[in-house]
Amino acid sequence: MAERVKRTVRDLRRGNRASLLRHLYFEGPLSRQELGRDTGLSAGSISNVVGELIADGMVEEAGAVESDGGRPRILLQVAAGYGYVVGVDVGETRVRVELFDLALTERASADLPLSDGGHDVDHVVRLALEGIGTVVREAGVDDREVLGVGIGVPGIVEQGDRAPGDGDGIVVHGQTIDWEAVPLGRLLRAGTALPLYIDNGAKTLGQAEMWFGGGRGSGNVVIALIGSGVGAAVVADGRPYHGASSSAGEWGHTTLRVGGRTCRCGSRGCLEAYVGAEALLGRWPGRPDGVSEESALAAMLAAADHDPHAGALLTEAAEYLGAGIADLINLFNPQRIVIGGWAGLLLGPRLLPAVREFAAAYALRHPGAQTSIELGRLGADAVTVGAATLPLGHFLDTGGELPVRLPAQTRGDADHGGSDPVRNRIARAVR
Ligand SMILES: [Zn+2]
Repeated sequence: MAERVKRTVRDLRRGNRASLLRHLYFEGPLSRQELGRDTGLSAGSISNVVGELIADGMVEEAGAVESDGGRPRILLQVAAGYGYVVGVDVGETRVRVELFDLALTERASADLPLSDGGHDVDHVVRLALEGIGTVVREAGVDDREVLGVGIGVPGIVEQGDRAPGDGDGIVVHGQTIDWEAVPLGRLLRAGTALPLYIDNGAKTLGQAEMWFGGGRGSGNVVIALIGSGVGAAVVADGRPYHGASSSAGEWGHTTLRVGGRTCRCGSRGCLEAYVGAEALLGRWPGRPDGVSEESALAAMLAAADHDPHAGALLTEAAEYLGAGIADLINLFNPQRIVIGGWAGLLLGPRLLPAVREFAAAYALRHPGAQTSIELGRLGADAVTVGAATLPLGHFLDTGGELPVRLPAQTRGDADHGGSDPVRNRIARAVR
């Protein structure tokens, strides 16, 4: 009984910390009074919890505003320098790694091209670990200040980890890159003690656009990722939709043409086989040799007005994309569809008017008229930012709890005595 009371009190305290921390993160800077008004917590609770968060170093003062007749009100915000998060994008042609502070300001980055080995698992793991080591070193931060590493991958991610950040048990099924039940968390764990979070790249992009970009303020959104391949993240009633084993959103492999072109997944007539950059470029006779997919697609766009092949392929892509978006509209009734990914952002300015027309023509009129189709606002590296939101999300949702593995395990704890500010801060946070 006593144990249950203790647990309830602890849950309540953790819930209050999470509520204030999340609110300050997304809406801050805010005064204590505004926090009380927005969260419904009493002035006493606000005062206690904010006091704790400030003592822990997670929240800091951010100036003051005049109030009507009374004393100036102190504004509060989440302390950007409290800790750091790393985002890893396992892309089609390279592994990109970025280290951010808690305000998601980039502090260091590394691009590691995938060589001829393609997506050989050991090679990808080696590059990711190398990149993580590089950004931590270049940013000059201590391993123990890194709250975790998020990794976005081109595949279906089954979350089997025992505890958040553990990584052990996470399995990736990447059919287009020949990854069959790859235990990515365990493989990475062999080379780092940092907390690990892994999700599908389209889903990490989706979380970034929902937090900071084109999806913000809306509870029913589909974020489409168009790169070499095509994916999507579905947010329904304010929550990411995962399905039975996390594969929901594999929009790129929905069939748009029975018996159509062969897709990288092995099936035929998939949306990706008409709209993905690899498929588009594969059919363009004018593709320049020896340049990246990105440069080649830019060349295709530039050639569209005088090269009939390029023009026809792009018009066809706009119709397939519009039809695919109409399917999303009819299935999910979103308020908004946000198109991101490097190829989506590159094609968007030219194709968007036609895509909107085709989507309106293929979708049912009523939901079609209520859905806006927009471009993502976070740029081509949004998958990396999104990957970094995975550990950040854990931090905010738990009221600033540390993930399961303390990075200090990798280092000699004896070197860091009681006067170490990082260690003391961690000790306070896990109390
Ligand atoms: Zn396919």
